[in-house]
Amino acid sequence: MPNKHQKMAGRLGKIVLVAVVGLVACSSTDAVNRPATQVIRTLQSSTRPVDTSTPFTMMDQASTESQHPGPGGFSTGDPKIGDQEKLENSGIATALAATPESTADKPLLETLSSEITQTISVASKEITATHSVEQIIGFSYDGRPISSYRFGHGTETVIFVGGIHGGYEWNTIMLAYQAIDYFLNHPGAVPEQISLYIVPSANPDGQFLVTESDGKFGFGDVGTDTASGRFNGHGVDLNRNWNCNWDPDAFWLDEEVSGGARPFSEPESQALRDFFLDLKPGGVVFWHSSADGVYAAGCSELFLPARALAEVYSGESGYPVYDQFTSYSISGDAGDWLTRQGIPSITVELATHDQVEWTENLAGILAVLDYFDRQPGRIIEP
Ligand SMILES: [Zn+2]
Repeated sequence: MPNKHQKMAGRLGKIVLVAVVGLVACSSTDAVNRPATQVIRTLQSSTRPVDTSTPFTMMDQASTESQHPGPGGFSTGDPKIGDQEKLENSGIATALAATPESTADKPLLETLSSEITQTISVASKEITATHSVEQIIGFSYDGRPISSYRFGHGTETVIFVGGIHGGYEWNTIMLAYQAIDYFLNHPGAVPEQISLYIVPSANPDGQFLVTESDGKFGFGDVGTDTASGRFNGHGVDLNRNWNCNWDPDAFWLDEEVSGGARPFSEPESQALRDFFLDLKPGGVVFWHSSADGVYAAGCSELFLPARALAEVYSGESGYPVYDQFTSYSISGDAGDWLTRQGIPSITVELATHDQVEWTENLAGILAVLDYFDRQPGRIIEP
């Protein structure tokens, strides 16, 4: 897919500043808990070729400043997660220091200085800034970006994933975008010890097939034939492509579907796998629809930490809890593979195929965040 990637790189090429998302007037509690030093701006350095013929300008700043790229928007960087972590941990000064001293980058330095001044000024007015960092963690078979949105900077990581079954389960993508909007508007809802990541659409090819959208979409955008949107652009069922009981001939109900040529044959699975292994999350929740239940993951055997996590989500959301999915045999499941890495995972199957079921799922999400917030010093046993 070099041409598509090159095309994407053209859109993503410049060094950019993606950063503080909303300047949100917060409750007094948030203001107390989040000092100005937590106002973080992240310099995302592209790993792709930098187009120095188009320097970062004040116009770029204005567009970055005025609006968050937003759910469904494109981040214009493609950072290695590790690089980004370093920048976030080391702060603005290091980000500035790390910026190459070239003529083309000078406007960027000036812009950064200006933004820092503005940020401090705004923070001193007791308007607290929150932030969400959008990362592109990989690309689909057809070259579409797979995005992740981060909230909070705690030491315990929790990841929620929507849409691994693409447009067929479009309501899980819509749910994920609603969760992103919620945390943008309620920054205090992320506990102090938590770093929350939401991957709204793990199968963007399948989403596009049904919604004709690469990002956020509305009910009116959903096509009538959704079944084919279950697969990626290569015709593979992405939740049959992971290395636990993997089989090239997999099943969806009584229908045979492709599990791929080998475990992790698909770029979407590779991207998510690497994302998980890099972040070493305390737990991962996958949203599916619509078998109405919370299922603990486990590779052949019940994984007790996953069962405990399933209880947490079930307890507040009201979806019934199960040890495992038994309606039919599933091979190459993502959550099952995670348990082989010692990472608890659950599948939340919404009760319907066309509703977000927001009240139930918000309760489940907040319960999971609270659960991990109360587990300091967790040790993952491989
Ligand atoms: Zn599914």
